[in-house]
Amino acid sequence: AKQAGGDRTMLFTQSIKEQLERRKLIEQSLIAAIAAGQFELYYQPKVGGLSRQVCGYEALVRWNHPQLGILSPSEFIPIAEETGAILPLGDWVMEHACLHAKELNDLGFENIPVAINVSASQLSDPDWLDRLLFILQKTKLPTHLIELELTESQLLVDIDHSTDLITYIRSLGVKVALDDFGTGYSSLSYLRNLPLDTLKIDRSFVAHLQENQENYDLAIIKAVKALSKQLGISLVAEGVEKAMQERILTEIGCDQLQGYLYSKPIPAKEFLALCLRSLTE
Ligand code: C2E
Ligand code: CA
Ligand code: CA
Ligand code: CA
Repeated sequence: AKQAGGDRTMLFTQSIKEQLERRKLIEQSLIAAIAAGQFELYYQPKVGGLSRQVCGYEALVRWNHPQLGILSPSEFIPIAEETGAILPLGDWVMEHACLHAKELNDLGFENIPVAINVSASQLSDPDWLDRLLFILQKTKLPTHLIELELTESQLLVDIDHSTDLITYIRSLGVKVALDDFGTGYSSLSYLRNLPLDTLKIDRSFVAHLQENQENYDLAIIKAVKALSKQLGISLVAEGVEKAMQERILTEIGCDQLQGYLYSKPIPAKEFLALCLRSLTE
């Protein structure tokens, strides 16, 4: 028994060591990877709740790491946030998403905005807004074609600053969405004061929807729909994987749906092809 315990401890220690080394490698190669062109934007469409046509899309970054393979943002974004690398990486994402969106706009997709995830450290960086304005100017993307996805915890870091920033950004025509809604502190009182265009209900509420079965998730989504309607904000459901979820969400009146049911996030070229196909259909 003693022997087995010792082996387990060794395995455990080894896996912790591997994890630490992996983390260190990621941390150390983040900045250089931007210049080396190792990041790539994937896109996932959002479809209209009624029309089922592509009515928007979200940019989701991937890292084609030379040693580790394709890395998920849930692994490297938190590290980028901790080290400050999120600032140049976020700028890279912003610029490339705007360039792709401009390309799509020039092809005739005039009312399909790109949604871009923004981290708290970007929002609290005093120069971020200037860089955003510069990117908008440089890429010549009409401002109504961008939506920024922010999370509650980010906005709560400094709610007064966030409110001012969002108010200003929206005055430019840029849209603002609250992402992962329902997972944070969800104080309804600050929702009243935050000027928002969109609420994205978190996919954890969508995951367990069942037909002919009332449950808390269903009740919550219905309540959020009533709230968003009252506030004049559009409601997006994410993580839609099954036709049954789609039926329920459509009946509740979700304005937009996003999830594997329609498409996984795909590389820019594929996404462009998908849009072009939808034009000729
Ligand atoms: P998020 O913003 O909540 O993005 C949605 C995540 O759910 C994406 O994971 C997407 O691929 C995944 N997803 C979409 N549809 C489905 C579905 O039907 N079922 C399931 N199970 N999952 C689905 P991804 O691409 O791994 O991104 C993870 C998170 O990383 C994002 O969560 C976002 O918080 C962050 N992230 C991604 N790209 C960026 C970026 O450019 N900047 C920043 N700051 N964060 C990013
Ligand atoms: Ca998002
Ligand atoms: Ca989300
Ligand atoms: Ca999330």
